[in-house]
This record gives sequence, structure tokens and C-alpha cells, in this order.
Amino acid sequence: MPFIDRKKYIAEGDLVLVYVSRTIIKPIYVKKGENFNTRFGSFPHETMIGLEFGSQITTPKDRGFVYLLQPTPELWTMSLPHRTQIVYTPDSSYILQRLDVRVGSKVIEAGTGSGSFTHAFARTVNSEGRLFSFEFHESRYEQARDEFLMHGLGNTTITHRDVCTNGFDIENVTLDADAIFLDLPSPWEAIPHLKSVIANDRRVGICCFSPCFEQVVKTVESLQKEGWSDVELTETQGRLYESHKAMKREVDDAVKRLKFVKEKQREGLALIKTGKRQRKDDDEPLSKERDYGFNPFGKGKRIIEGDEEFEWFNVTRLEAEVKTHTSYLVFATKMPFADGKA
Ligand code: SAM
Repeated sequence: MPFIDRKKYIAEGDLVLVYVSRTIIKPIYVKKGENFNTRFGSFPHETMIGLEFGSQITTPKDRGFVYLLQPTPELWTMSLPHRTQIVYTPDSSYILQRLDVRVGSKVIEAGTGSGSFTHAFARTVNSEGRLFSFEFHESRYEQARDEFLMHGLGNTTITHRDVCTNGFDIENVTLDADAIFLDLPSPWEAIPHLKSVIANDRRVGICCFSPCFEQVVKTVESLQKEGWSDVELTETQGRLYESHKAMKREVDDAVKRLKFVKEKQREGLALIKTGKRQRKDDDEPLSKERDYGFNPFGKGKRIIEGDEEFEWFNVTRLEAEVKTHTSYLVFATKMPFADGKA
């Protein structure tokens, strides 16, 4: 399974994630006779065969280069064809950890969508575990089914089903799930159908992923009604904290700076009056103190941050916008026989 096992060399038919830049990663299936085209030139697939995953290759005239990366769920999330909104790695990694998903776990996921989270689940439960994914949109189901086959997700079963109406039971299969993930518009309609498919001899965790608070309220009501406990709402917010050194600015510095600006203005006027301004090589200092060797405001003279000649303090700046809010995460657990039925 390419997303689960590591592989050293690229062979024909392999899925390779071609890293062009930080924001451009393209999935290709290596096939002799085909080319990967970029604005820097063309990379024949043939030249990739036999190379180690992670290799850098250049175009014939060395005009550009790309890296040939081994697929991982994280890189797949960054490169997959979007058919729906997807779950990104900050959320999926947190959810996996909170639901205590591990090698050998049995997981139910609905809906499958673009299969972003499916790959992370499949790798985590590994070949000893099972993942049951449900999708009711027919063409999305078909695309995901074919993709999972090509990606060798042998531990994953995808079912074409409306789980809100028809539940999660699969004929002749005991799902016995330890963890449930619902990324659906109305998870509260699917929750009552879980009784027959969750484990009844150990703790089971659930996470419902909903963008709106109205959905959260209905989900919480349904979870409580169905005997789930420890209901908790969380949200993952990825924010960039930038830290740097700022120069200490004193009133004296401001005065020196104003004097400096005034003097420069005077010099400029003097040069314009005498017509000397046109001569480039004539920009000799007019006063001995022309190189003030000093700029507490970082303008004019270039001062490297942290220069020991000056005094500095550490500052932190927070990104104004949260770029990674996708949804509210409602977690809950069910203990065996908690409601007398399990
Ligand atoms: N978690 C997915 C991912 O990371 O790629 C994205 C899921 S997408 C936001 C929601 C999916 O749920 C859609 O593909 C939709 O067709 C499917 N869906 C909605 N209601 C459903 C239902 N009642 N039963 C099964 N699938 C459903």
C-alpha cells in the first residue's frame, strides 16, 4: 500500500507527487511516453523510472527542477483533486489523536467526499485495522472507490449509501467500530443509526465536523438523546506567530532623527541651488558627520536586526486572520452499556 508502506524506487504505474513549489504539488501516475509539463519545460515520465523517491529532476536545458515525492496522506491532502470541501491536516491529526485511532482500530467515516481524511484514517489504522467509508453522491462514490483501489487502500471499504436514511450496517460484515467521524450536513440524523455498528465491549469515540453552530446544537441534542457522554466542542485554529527584535526608540533618538532629516533637506537645497545635484560623483559629504552611523528607525542606513551596537527588545506579532477555521468539532464518547443497550 503506497500510502502506508514506504518504497525506495519509482516504478512505472506508481503515483508520484510532483513538487513544483510550496503551493503546487501535482499527482501523476508514471507512464512511459507521457510528460509532466510545467512553465519551465517538460519532464518525461520515463526519466523518473528507477529514481529514488525524493529525487530532484531538471528539464533537459536545466531551466527548471521539480522533486518527485512519495505519497503520504498529508501531501495527498495538499495535492488531491477537490470534489468537495476537505478536511485538512491540522484538523485530521487532532481528530485522530482525540479519537484515539491507532493501528488495528475500526473506524466509520461519512461522507467520504474527496477522500482527504480517508487516507489519514487508512494509514493510521494500518493493515491490521479497518475503515468503513460511506458516500451517497454517486459519481463521488465511484471516483473515490477507483482512487482508493489505485492507491492500494486495501483496509478501506467504501459503500454507496445515504447514512441518514439507511444507516451503516453492511451485509455479512461486523463493523464493531471504535471511532466514528461524521462530516455530513446533518450528522444528527445519522447518529441514531450508529447503535448497531459500534463496539459494545470498549469505549467508542465520535467526532462530528460542522461549519455552523446551528448544526452543532442539533448534533449535541442527538448525541445526548442517544446516550453519548463527555460531549465537548472544540475548534482548531492555526495561527502564525511572528517573533522578531524591535529597536528601542528613545525621545533623544527621535530628536536626532529630526535633526538628521532637516540637515539632509538643507544639504539638498544647497546642492539644488548650486546646480551640483546633477553630478553623481559629487555626492560627497557636506559635513563631516555625513555618515550618521545611526538610525533607530530602520530608515536610510541599513541596520541588521539584532546589531549589537543598538538596544533591542523581543516582539511577537499574531496574524490577524485565522486561515484554517473550517468547522466546529463535536466530540463525545460512549461506554459499553452506558444506556443499557450499548
Ligand atoms: N471529509 C471529506 C474529505 O476530507 O475529503 C469531505 C466530506 S464532504 C464535506 C461531505 C460529503 O458527505 C459529501 O461528499 C456528500 O456527498 C456526503 N454526504 C452528505 N450527506 C450524506 C449522507 N446522508 N450519506 C452519505 N454521504 C453524505
